Amino acid sequence: MSGLSLPIEGPIEGPIDGSGTATAVNVLAPNASPMTLDGTNTWVLGRGESVAVVDPGPDDPGHLSTVVSRLGGRNVEVILLTHGHEDHSGGARRFAEMVKSPVRALDRTHVLGEEGLEDGDALTAGGVEIRVIGTPGHSFDSLCFWLPEDGALLTGDTILGRGTTVIAPDGDLADYLRSLDRLRAMAELSEAESLLPGHGPILADPIGKLDEYITHRRQRLDQIRQAIRDGAKDAREIVEMVYAEVPRELWPAAEMSVAAQLNYLKKL
Ligand SMILES: [Zn+2]
Repeated sequence: MSGLSLPIEGPIEGPIDGSGTATAVNVLAPNASPMTLDGTNTWVLGRGESVAVVDPGPDDPGHLSTVVSRLGGRNVEVILLTHGHEDHSGGARRFAEMVKSPVRALDRTHVLGEEGLEDGDALTAGGVEIRVIGTPGHSFDSLCFWLPEDGALLTGDTILGRGTTVIAPDGDLADYLRSLDRLRAMAELSEAESLLPGHGPILADPIGKLDEYITHRRQRLDQIRQAIRDGAKDAREIVEMVYAEVPRELWPAAEMSVAAQLNYLKKL
């Protein structure tokens, strides 16, 4: 399952590779596609001799070697996964072997070593304090990582640098809406300064972006309700009406998103 974004609009910002905050630096994986934007962002977190690596990315030995070369000899204390989709986690096992590090994730099938990850966990790795926030929705196992010293939130596929994320078949829209509300409240309380997404550029206005996502979801749900009133009979017909402006190559992703929304509306 790829990053799954649906475009809204907006200019391509860059550069993405090498961008970051005081303690986080992005190593961009070369898996760009309409669904993964510029590619997967692998985040290297560290203040000193060692680092934590978030989302090694797809199982691409070239990319994993690039990440290792960017470490400059620093030790990897731990590999963290925002979620288990292939474009974030596929290279985790190979990378763990290369750098001799455990892998921590919410979904135990991705864990290598003793410890998983759960909502509310707090750890320090690479000299960086990392707080784990459970944000199910895009996938059942999605996590965000809050870096209090930087005021930065690593969002995985929960928030993307451009466009909007899709609810994957292993996700849930009701969960996603709750996760967005929770992140919105958290961003305000803790005065978050930036979002570091799993795809696309760093976002400098966390509250603005979260409001945009929340509004967008509500509007899409209203559009789908309207499409049903107008006679759309299934997800495909709804896509043709509601996502008419979206390029056709993204319609399968849109259909997945509509299916998640129909499921949500049925349960109301
Ligand atoms: Zn994903």
